[in-house]
Amino acid sequence: MQKSQQLFERAQQHIPGGVNSPVRAFKAVGGTPPFIERADGPYIFDADGKQYIDYVQSWGPMVLGHNHSGIRQAVVAAAEKGLSFGAPTEAEVIMAEMVSDMVPSMEMVRMVNSGTEATMSAIRLARGYTGKNKLLKFEGCYHGHADSLLVKAGSGALTLGVPSSPGVPDDIAKHTLTQEYNNLDSVKDAFNEHGDDIACVIVEPVAGNMNCIPPVEGFLEGLRALCDQYGAVLIFDEVMTGFRVAQGGAQARYNIQPDLTCLGKVIGGGMPVGAFGGKREIMSHIAPSGPVYQAGTLSGNPVAMAAGLAALTAIRDANMYDTLSSNTERLALGIKAIADKYDIPLTVNYAGSMFGFFFTDVEKVVNYQQAINCDTDRFNRFYHGMLEQGVYLAPASYEAGFVSIAHTDDVITETLSIVDKVMATLV
Ligand code: PMP
Repeated sequence: MQKSQQLFERAQQHIPGGVNSPVRAFKAVGGTPPFIERADGPYIFDADGKQYIDYVQSWGPMVLGHNHSGIRQAVVAAAEKGLSFGAPTEAEVIMAEMVSDMVPSMEMVRMVNSGTEATMSAIRLARGYTGKNKLLKFEGCYHGHADSLLVKAGSGALTLGVPSSPGVPDDIAKHTLTQEYNNLDSVKDAFNEHGDDIACVIVEPVAGNMNCIPPVEGFLEGLRALCDQYGAVLIFDEVMTGFRVAQGGAQARYNIQPDLTCLGKVIGGGMPVGAFGGKREIMSHIAPSGPVYQAGTLSGNPVAMAAGLAALTAIRDANMYDTLSSNTERLALGIKAIADKYDIPLTVNYAGSMFGFFFTDVEKVVNYQQAINCDTDRFNRFYHGMLEQGVYLAPASYEAGFVSIAHTDDVITETLSIVDKVMATLV
């Protein structure tokens, strides 16, 4: 850790908290974050040369594993032709066609540079399209750091104890309604009270920012029906779940058609890319077809498009989702079995290649309150035990874990033997 320690001290001189995104600072679990030098397949390697099996996977994009050769070669080839043109390219056309083909509800697609931009723009579009002001989101869901969405948010905002951030004026926050995830009755109540002014419901169809919480049966279907009843736009934030819980995302897995979808992470193959899209009728309100303004100097960047197209092509050709799901299930159930063996209260959730584990007595965690009432002290001890033994998990108990296709049976077996060793120390 010597080099990481030195880098972390240097970083704090000129970068707030020493990091460019808060969770990376290890505030929740304490200690020094390893500074990463390179990555390959299921592994990352830190500045001191230590290898870790990585279940963060750059927070989700690396569904094919790190440093995939097809993506790397596509990036190099695109870079040789120029880094940015600020003018349309064929790669953007192919990208839009490919996204529409793989996620059919996205009849039209606009590329952006991050998940935050995708959700922020989708919400503006929903408001512009409906002429209504309010948005409804769920406690513990994170949709990026736009003002309207930093109200009772998950992920780092939750970890750092600022789910509703200072700097968001009350006049903006008052238009954000926040209900309990997986509780349809609370959504019905909100529609009863504010139905005339709700422009959209935005939801993580599998929540991944308060650990991993899949939707209970009927929840997503109920949101679809309420949005139809009240003329609100249903937005699936599939920044995390897109191309991950199934090739067509959560909407394919649970067979629900949202009006708009936000994508990020996987769609860029590791480059800074996001997208939003959906029904032609709604998307045609975006500038320059319509009056709702949205733009980006680097949007559809040729190098980023090359990475994304290579990632989506490899995904489409790999037929990998059954393997991903069964490997993830084996990992999650394996963690649970080891905890049971040591009489440590723990429950697991998983969907596709997302997973989460909770140190709690609760049999099945389905909402935010249950997620935050877990034994964080035990999580932190587990975390550092795993890190020490060479397994890199998300450094906070409110984040989902990710499995890639490079996490083979052998890698999962090795991980479980380390879990066993570390759980034995927690009794
Ligand atoms: N939506 C979801 C569901 C996310 O998980 C994230 C990031 N973790 C975002 C939006 C924001 O994406 P970005 O960090 O690329 O802005």
